[in-house]
Amino acid sequence: MALIIDGKKISTEIKEELREEVAALKEKGVEITLAVIQVGNDPASSIYVRNKKTACEYIGIKSLSYELPENTTEKELLDLIKELNANSKVNGILVQLPLPKHINEELVINTIDPSKDVDGFHPQSVGALSIGQKGFLSCTPAGIIQLLKRSGISIAGKECVVIGRSNIVGKPMALLMLREDATVTICHSKTKDLKEVAKRADILIVAIGKPKFISSEFVKEGAVVIDVGIHRDENNKLCGDVDYEDVLPKVSAITPVPGGVGPMTIAMLMYNCLQSAR
Ligand code: NAP
Repeated sequence: MALIIDGKKISTEIKEELREEVAALKEKGVEITLAVIQVGNDPASSIYVRNKKTACEYIGIKSLSYELPENTTEKELLDLIKELNANSKVNGILVQLPLPKHINEELVINTIDPSKDVDGFHPQSVGALSIGQKGFLSCTPAGIIQLLKRSGISIAGKECVVIGRSNIVGKPMALLMLREDATVTICHSKTKDLKEVAKRADILIVAIGKPKFISSEFVKEGAVVIDVGIHRDENNKLCGDVDYEDVLPKVSAITPVPGGVGPMTIAMLMYNCLQSAR
């Protein structure tokens, strides 16, 4: 029987640990503050922002909310970030992506003070990860490492294949698995014979952005499969990048969608806020 990796349970465990730590810091007079900026009112972004604020409330982190109109100029947004950079009471700054097309996302990310970059997207955070220095880790990949470790799945020496090389998931995921001593292969849209490469994996991490793309033909018997994708299928049901039902009989462990990787991202964001205060 495959182990169904319970992201909901593991993320709750982490949030409980963080809540206790925040309470202890509060007793010493330390308050943690996260600034959350949203530009425009994309419905999906609004849900993510609301969930982040709810998590802050639960853990005891103060959240400052900036809901800016769609026609906010790039300069106005950059000025707000600079003001928050200079505010010593603010520990973390989060700008909800994607931004409206007239705003340069890269410039926005680069303007956030690296010591407040709780999303882990700043080039300094990414650089620190790649050379093994301390820094903020991108939340989704960091959450996946926690899912594996807290499910008792060892990483060192394992063949890991990451499908996807985006800056926010695939690349930092591969670097983190390397840091955990896995032997890592990264696949992308130009990879030849994806099935054969994927079948080498003891741990297969899928962040391809295509619903139910990965069938059992891509999976080695007994592999661990981590599904990062989130989509709505033809029946409006949530599904991942992996064809869960098809793959399940072959794997030793798998993350479901929903309830796998998804809940971990916010838990790790909260972890980063605490790290910033520490
Ligand atoms: P992305 O930026 O679209 O990247 C997709 C990656 O998959 C690219 O590197 C692309 O290769 C590769 N790819 C596309 N088609 C391929 C194919 N046929 N064969 C091999 N590789 C292929 O997506 P992302 O931001 O990394 O997100 C991936 C998925 O995770 C999405 O479903 C997203 O919604 C989800 N997600 C979930 C969370 C969470 O908290 N659970 C967080 C972030 C993202 P190229 O580089 O060659 O184009």
